Parts: sequence; structure tokens; C-alpha cells
Amino acid sequence: MAFLSSTATEETAVEVVADSMAGGIVRRADSGMDSGSSGLSSVEESKHDASQAVTLEPALEQDLSVLRHDCAHVMAEAVQSLYPSTKLAFGPATEDGFYYDFDAVEPFSPDCFAAIEEKMREIVARDSAFVREEWDRATAHEYFSAQGEHLKAEHVLSLPTDEAITIYRQGGEDDAGGWLDLCRGPHGARTGSVGTAFKLLSVSESLWKGGAKKLQRLRGTCWRDASELEQYLERLERARASDHRRLGQGLYHFQEEAAGSAFWHEGGFAIYRACESYIRARLAEEDYREVRTPQMIDRSLWEKSGHWQKFREQMYTIAEEDSTADGGKRVFALKPMNCPGHVQIFKQGLVSYRDLPLRLSEFGLVHRNEPSGALQGLMRARAFTQDDGHIFCREDQIIDETRRFCVLLQSIYRDFGFRDVSVKFSDRPRERAGDDALWDKAESALREASEAAGLRYSLNSGEGAFYGPKLEFVLRDCLGRDWQCGTWQVDFVLPRRLDASYIDERGEKCCPVLLHRAILGSLERFIGIVMEHYVGALPLWLAPVQVVIATVTNKSDSYAAECARCFRAAGLRVSVDCRAEKIGYKVREHSVRKVPVIAVVGEKEASSRMVSLRRFGIEKDDGGQAPDGLPNKLSGLLPLSEALEALRIEGALPTGAMDAVDSTTCAPNTNRGGVSL
Ligand SMILES: [Zn+2]
Ligand SMILES: [Zn+2]
Repeated sequence: MAFLSSTATEETAVEVVADSMAGGIVRRADSGMDSGSSGLSSVEESKHDASQAVTLEPALEQDLSVLRHDCAHVMAEAVQSLYPSTKLAFGPATEDGFYYDFDAVEPFSPDCFAAIEEKMREIVARDSAFVREEWDRATAHEYFSAQGEHLKAEHVLSLPTDEAITIYRQGGEDDAGGWLDLCRGPHGARTGSVGTAFKLLSVSESLWKGGAKKLQRLRGTCWRDASELEQYLERLERARASDHRRLGQGLYHFQEEAAGSAFWHEGGFAIYRACESYIRARLAEEDYREVRTPQMIDRSLWEKSGHWQKFREQMYTIAEEDSTADGGKRVFALKPMNCPGHVQIFKQGLVSYRDLPLRLSEFGLVHRNEPSGALQGLMRARAFTQDDGHIFCREDQIIDETRRFCVLLQSIYRDFGFRDVSVKFSDRPRERAGDDALWDKAESALREASEAAGLRYSLNSGEGAFYGPKLEFVLRDCLGRDWQCGTWQVDFVLPRRLDASYIDERGEKCCPVLLHRAILGSLERFIGIVMEHYVGALPLWLAPVQVVIATVTNKSDSYAAECARCFRAAGLRVSVDCRAEKIGYKVREHSVRKVPVIAVVGEKEASSRMVSLRRFGIEKDDGGQAPDGLPNKLSGLLPLSEALEALRIEGALPTGAMDAVDSTTCAPNTNRGGVSL
């Protein structure tokens, strides 16, 4: 978490908010010591499920959080009564339930859940009071040591000396007996109020305080009544069905030898290339110059940029085999971000004020050493590619550049099918570079520019980068989950640090403003988001296989091959299915895989040079009519040339002009501050 929570540079901030938006932040306010400083290990999984959280009134949310924390204690007692050698770590409430981390000899499995739940129901039925006690440090340490609760004992010693040590006891009589836990609270009145609307969901590995010690995390959910629980489980099921890790089967994979780096297979890489080509084309229109900077750069440059001091732990380094003249080894770092590289390009040659703004872009592959427990498929990887860009400009150009960027970003999100985008404005953090006058200037420029771009934003007070204010763009997907993707940051510091300059109107050297920006963020993660958003049924231009040509019998094999050549020549991604299976079987199979177009060819089609098009999501009997306002997609029996031309156009990269496509699948939420796309 250290890397993520430190402000420093824009790319890290992207990740931080991404995680918090996706629910990565475990509620700490009321889960007290239990949540302690479990740090990274808590991010790892709450992220996924918390995204299902419902928006509640703050007071109700608070009550629910206490209820869930009560439930965590009930579960911990149940576990210890069934498996007495199990030791306690932390057990906070989360966005949608609770977990407890245990140090257990035997691995838990879902097979244990029924017994634990049964025991929990007994504890709830017993309806004992949660009794709060204050202990002194020595007593607490001694007690937990004597109980063999080594993690709790260790934690007692790490608590600030001026903090009261509180214990919550349940099930004892008059300050004695029963089950107890070191906990800051608060808790409800009695175990009975936990009720029965809870369910254990998973067991996974976690790490004690983000270190090396492995624990087992039992996770559950808890609600006020059975119907809330049922609704939650339904949402969970929908989310599971759209999990990019499930949808991504065959498109890419991960394996232990390269943990956190995707192996892109043909289909997944087709999606990747479509995104890349699309962004490349859109940026070229906006006069970005695409560049590529080295993967490995000497540590001295990272020291100069400040990354070495801030992110050393998350940077992968490589020491050169040969020693340098002074006997030391030269150390290189794999770039964790692209900014310093872009500044080096800017510094080559003399730049005049007339050359500004200079917009550099790069599909920058970066590496960051994330703990293995935090990795989550494409959503959180160690190697990923940013659609990164840096604009070098004069101060008086900030407003116009901001406005242009916002317009471009909205248009790009719309092309990907995201219409509900909210914007957060992060202003000066407590720790910052530059004086107040500089910040006043940067913030007012950004505010003015946001207004000029017609953005409505919410204020994220004090969350700016240390070098300047920023805008963050958050997408809401079909399941109502938020994903922070785009970022825009004003930076007066890095160009100065790296000695970048241009010659102004008076012939004097001047320091440019650096605008850091990304639209998709990480391509890998964005592809994960898009796949989940469309539940695998990608629009034609993004689909890994756009057209499957399926033969009715082997008599049309050669015609199918000819069609495939024509479709490929039109730039479409095509595969041919001439297996000796019934056509109905083939169509069903490719429909299950959500292939957008199936072109059926039989003898009739071959003799008349026609194809029979089946479109995913459109019933044959609709006569090609798309349901509910979707654009009319070409289907049915058509001359090959006509089908080719229509699919060539539909399958091409969008040009920013699409406005009504698939809008019905995601209605914008107008209640949030944001842009209406
Ligand atoms: Zn507690
Ligand atoms: Zn940057």
C-alpha cells in the first residue's frame, strides 16, 4: 500500500483511486483495531466484491457496518470453538460484509462453511451482550501471550501508548469467561442483533500486516434481513458471470513464472490492438506525436526525477554485469512511468514558445512491483501499458489544453460505450511542492478550464498530486461499478527538476508546464473493464473474432474459404468453421462464445454468391430488427458484396462520431455530478 497511498505522481494516483472506486478501501472508521494496519492484504479482495455495494444513507451504512463487524466477532468465536488451535488476526467490516484473518494450522475450505454458520447461529441465538472493557497494556499483552494469541499480543505492543486498549467480550458472565477480542469497536448491544441474514463466501490467503506471514481469510456477507441478503447474492452472481477472468478464458492467461504479466493470446491481443489502433488514430487527430522511450533507464535519472526516493521499493532494478570504472555496478530501473523519458525527448533541441503546446504520447509499458497478494488478473498487474501522454505548454495554454482533453476523453469513452462518467477535482494536498501563489494559479486555471469544458465535478479536497492539482475521470459500468480511468494533472515541478526549458517571446529561457494525461489508464485494466461491461459481447470493432463463417455441409467449403479471403481483405477478423457438425450446433456454439456475426454458407448461398448473416443478440425472426432502439444491424440473406461492405464499415474503428450505439444497455445515472455522454 505504501506505493499506492503515497501521492507523488499521477500514475500511482490513478491506481489508488481505481482501487478505492472499485471498493478497495476497507471501512476502517468503525472496524477499529481489527482492521488495524492490515494494509495491502485488505485491498486484495474487498476490491472485487465491494464493488457490489449499494448506496445507503450514511447513518444506515454506519449501522450496517457495526452489524457486520459484530458478525465478524460471532464468526471468529464460532471458528475458535470448532477449531481451537486457530489464532486471531484482524476482522473488520467491509463494503459488503466482513472478514476475519486467522492463523490456522489446517487450511479452511468451503466445506467448513456449513458447520461454522451453524455454530454462528447458535451464538446469535444465545444473544449475549457485547461487553466493552479497558485493559492496561501489560495485562493485555500478558493475556494474549498466555492464550497463544501471538498476533494479538504483537499488535498490542504496536498500539500508541496514549491509546486505551479495549476488549470486547461476548458470552461471559460478569466480566469473566466467554469469548473476547482486542478491538477498538464499536459494537452493537448483543449477538442476537446480528440476525441470520449472513453467509460465508470464500476463503483466501492474506498476509499479516502486508508482510510475509500467511494467514487465511474467511470472508462473509451480512445484511439486515433475508431479502437484502438474497438481492446481494443475486448481484454477486451477476458480477461473477461478468468477471473478466471468466470471460477472458482463451484470450489471455497468467502463470506463476510471470506473475502479474499477461500472456496475450491471439484473441485477447486482437482486442488489445483494436484499442491501441483506435487510441492512436484519435490522438493523431489531436496532433499528438507518438514516441517510445527506453524500458531500462539508469537510476541517476530516477534520482533526479524523484521517483527513486519515493518508489524505490516498487521499482524493478537490474545491475549491470560489468563494473564501472570506480568499481561499482551500474544500476538500471525498469520504468514504472513514462514522464521522465518524455521530458528527455522534449529536451533534445531548442524549443521555441511557438512550438508549444507539444503533445507527446506513448503506449508505455511500465512495471511496478505489486505484492503477489494484490494481483488481480488484468485489473491489477505488475506489467501494464498506459495510453500515456505529456503535454508541454505555456501557462496561458493550460485552459485550452484542458478543454480539448475533456472533449476528446468524453468522445473516446462514448465510443467504448460508457456514458456515465463522473469527474473529481483534487486540489492541493498538505504536503506539496511549490508556493501558494503557484497553486492558486494552477487550481484556478484547472477550475476555469473544467468549466469551459462543461464538466460538473465533485471536489476531492487535498487529494492532488504533490506537484499540482488534477482531474480524475470515473466510469460507471453496466453493473453500476465505478472505475477511475482517465487522469489529467497540472505539473509545475518535474520540468524544473529535469531542467526542461523553452525560449519565450523575449528570447529568454522559460520552464514549460507539464500536463500528465491518460484516458484509458492501463490498457490491460481497461480491457478487463470493457469485457465486464459488455459481459463478453463486445461491439463488432472490439470483438476478437468478428465473423465466423460456418458451412452447412462440406459442399460449400471452398465457397467458405473464398468468403473468408474477402472478409479478411476487408480488414475483418475471421475464422472458418467447416467441421462436420450440424449447422444449428455450430451456430449455438459460436453464439455462446458471443461472436458478433455468424455467416452461414450452404449450397444455396454458394450458387448465388450470398451469405446468411446471424447477428449476436438478434433473433433470426426479428427480420434483422434490433431490439429497443439499438441500431439496425444488417442480417439475413444478403449478397456477399453487400455484406462485406456493411461489415467493413461497422467493424472499423469508431471515429468519435458514434452517439447512439448501444446506449440502451447503460442508462446514465443523472444523480451524480458528471458529464452526460
Ligand atoms: Zn471488533
Ligand atoms: Zn506522467
